[in-house]
Amino acid sequence: MINNDKIFVTRPLLPDFDEFTKLAKEVYDSKWLTNMGQKHNLLEKELEKELKVPYCVLMNNGTLALLIALKNLHLPQGSEVITTPFTFAATTHSIVLNNLKPVFCDIEPNTMTIDADKIEALITPNTSLILGVHVYGFPCDVEKIDKIAKKHNLKVVYDAAHAFSTEINSRGIGTFGDVSTFSFHSTKLYNTIEGGCITCNNEELYNKSVSLRDFGIVDENTVNDIGINAKMNEFQAAWGLLNLKLYREEQNKRKKIKEFYDQNLGSIKGIRILKMPENATNSYQYYPIVIEDDYHLSRDELCKKFNEYNIFPRKYFYPVCSDFECYKNVRGRDNLPVTNAVKHRVMCLPYYSGLTHENLSLIVKIMDK
Ligand SMILES: *Cc1c(COP(=O)(O)O)cnc(C)c1O
Repeated sequence: MINNDKIFVTRPLLPDFDEFTKLAKEVYDSKWLTNMGQKHNLLEKELEKELKVPYCVLMNNGTLALLIALKNLHLPQGSEVITTPFTFAATTHSIVLNNLKPVFCDIEPNTMTIDADKIEALITPNTSLILGVHVYGFPCDVEKIDKIAKKHNLKVVYDAAHAFSTEINSRGIGTFGDVSTFSFHSTKLYNTIEGGCITCNNEELYNKSVSLRDFGIVDENTVNDIGINAKMNEFQAAWGLLNLKLYREEQNKRKKIKEFYDQNLGSIKGIRILKMPENATNSYQYYPIVIEDDYHLSRDELCKKFNEYNIFPRKYFYPVCSDFECYKNVRGRDNLPVTNAVKHRVMCLPYYSGLTHENLSLIVKIMDK
C-alpha cells in the first residue's frame, strides 16, 4: 500500500528537454544572454496575448514584480495598504519593503479572498492602496473593490500569482485594478523556473515598470529613478516560450483530477470543497479543501496521516502573514475571525498531471477513513 515515491502538492511543468536544448543552443550561439533579448521580448508579447492584457512587463520573479508594482504608484511614504493576511509572505513583505504600512483585512469564507465588505471600515485618511490576492486562483470581488477605491480615491493592486490565465466575464484578470502581478515560479501552474510579470492598462505605468526593472535606466544617458535588477535571462525566456504551449494541456489534465476529487470527496462528511464563482474561469493552480469540525480528524491529523503514506499536501495558508512575529503589531490583526478559523482547516491536495489513477484513489481512500 505504501507508495515509495513521494507525492507533493505539485510538480513543475517541464518542456521537452530536446526542444529546450535546441532553443538554449540558439541563445548560446547568439551570444546575447540577458537584457531584453529576442526570446525575452517574444515571450512578453506572447504573454500579452495569453493573459489578454494591453501591457505585460516580464520580471525575474513574482516578488520583484510586486515590489516594482507598488513602487511605481508613488504612494505617500508611511501610508497604509489594506491587504489580506491569507497569502504567501511576499505579498505583505512587498508593502513593508516599500516603506508602506500593511493593514490586515479579514477574508471571505467562500473564496478566501479579501472580504470587500470589511474594507471600508479599515480606511483612514492615511490609506493609499488596496492590495488584494486572487488566492488559489479565486478572483477577488473586483467590482466591489473598484467601487470602494473610486469612492475613497485609492489605488488597487492585485497579486495574481495563482491566477494565470483566469478570466472574469471573458476579461483577462490582469486588467483589473491599476496593476496586477504574476509569478512564474516552478510551483506555479505556468513557470519559467523563476519569473513573473506586471500587467497594466496604461502606457505610463508600463514605461515606468520597464525602467524600474532595469535600474531605472531610460536610455544610455539617463537614469531617472531608483530601480532594481529584475530582468529575465534568455534561457528562462526560452523555457517560458515552450511551457506557454503546454500549460493548457496541463490545465485540462488537472480539470479531470478536479472532477475526480469533486465526485469522490464532495460526499465525505466534514470535507468542504471550494467553488469558483460562475463568471470566472479556473486557473487550476490549487485544489483547496476545508476540513470542517464534523470531520473525524483535524486538519493536522489528516496531514500526518497523509505523510505516513509519503503524501505531502500543503497547509496553504498556514501560518498566515498575521501570525508572523514581524507583523504582530499590524493594524487589523486582532480582528480576523474568518482567517483565524480557516487557517487551521485548509489544505491543498496534490494537483498535477503526473498523478496516476492509483495515486488519486489512494488519496481519496485515506480521506474516506
Ligand atoms: C509565489 C507567490 C508570490 C511570489 O512569487 P515568486 O515568483 O516566488 O517571487 C507572491 N504571491 C503569491 C500569492 C505567491 O503564491
